[in-house]
Amino acid sequence: MIIPFLDLKAINSRHAAELKAAAARVIDSGWYVLGEEVKAFESEFAAWVGSPHCVGTSDGLSALTLALRAWKEMGLLKEGDGVAVPANTYIASILAITENRLRPVLVEPDEATFNLGAAKLTAALTPDVKAVLAVHLYGQLAEMPAVAKLCRERGLLLLEDAAQAHGAQIGGIKAGAWGDAAAFSFYPTKNLGALGDAGALTCKDAKLADMVRALRNYGSKEKYQNHVQGPNDRLDELQAAFLRVKLPYLDADNARRRAIAWRYLTEIKNPAVRLPAPPPAPAAHVWHLFVVRVPDREAFQAQLAAAGVQTQVHYPIPPHKQAAYARELGHLNFPLTEAIHREVVSLPLSPVMSDDQAERVIGAINSFQA
Ligand SMILES: *Cc1c(COP(=O)(O)O)cnc(C)c1O
Repeated sequence: MIIPFLDLKAINSRHAAELKAAAARVIDSGWYVLGEEVKAFESEFAAWVGSPHCVGTSDGLSALTLALRAWKEMGLLKEGDGVAVPANTYIASILAITENRLRPVLVEPDEATFNLGAAKLTAALTPDVKAVLAVHLYGQLAEMPAVAKLCRERGLLLLEDAAQAHGAQIGGIKAGAWGDAAAFSFYPTKNLGALGDAGALTCKDAKLADMVRALRNYGSKEKYQNHVQGPNDRLDELQAAFLRVKLPYLDADNARRRAIAWRYLTEIKNPAVRLPAPPPAPAAHVWHLFVVRVPDREAFQAQLAAAGVQTQVHYPIPPHKQAAYARELGHLNFPLTEAIHREVVSLPLSPVMSDDQAERVIGAINSFQA
């Protein structure tokens, strides 16, 4: 039996009866966009994150983009301002910046965490950098106590890309409650996944929440009155209803991810395979992905595939080497980021994996011959 990288059907089948009931509720309501389900999900998710406000959006990229756009509308950012962001992120983080005609200032990550650290961030700050976009890559919080403190001291706006980190926390403060604003994705593969596209913004400032609420809906606060120019980035009722079904199970799912990750960390023993560093506190990581580094990635993936273990790569090409950014960023060099993108491999890890499957993954990796 092949161990799939991720079995989405198995993940959602656990809740099939509840999901079908939620769909029936929405169908029968006759109300499909921006209604009671979205409102209820927003307040339930805000409470779960520990953030005063939540605004549902069509996806994670729109939540990121609208946060920066709202700050521009509010006069806190202007075209050309710099936004510091880790160089080794998913391209959505960078797209949100350039979509707003802001300038991505790429920063090498800390090697142990794959995340933004305060020291390299400080070194990258120039006077035109007005905001920091901290990405909690693979499910681990960036060095948030220090990054948040730095942003407060320097008067920088702090946006979190929490698309991979629902529930990660340090000192009881969760991803989404550290920054001035945070963006979540509920793409089906994320720790909290919808059955289609969905996203949300959480934030501290009621004015920012109001602005994003208007922006996601053509810039309209009242029907047919458009205060600002905005796109259509709304969360729909059906996805909100599905997310309300799955949110109560998220803590247990994250606990299961941690249990499997702990086995990988303690039982994988192969000098050719570099394990991720254990997080500073167990709760700081929700293991959206378990990412190892292997110099000969191709051989590693091939041997695991032959042993029936599917793996993936997140991500093979860093944003500054993508064709889409050849003109703006192609001349830049980030040796650590480039090495990471060359060597990373993601192992199967999900709340529906059995102990037996985890054991087979460990066995296959321990038998890998470089
Ligand atoms: C998934 C993801 C996004 C984008 O979310 P979508 O819902 O796919 O738009 C942004 N940033 C990171 C780090 C992600 O993993």
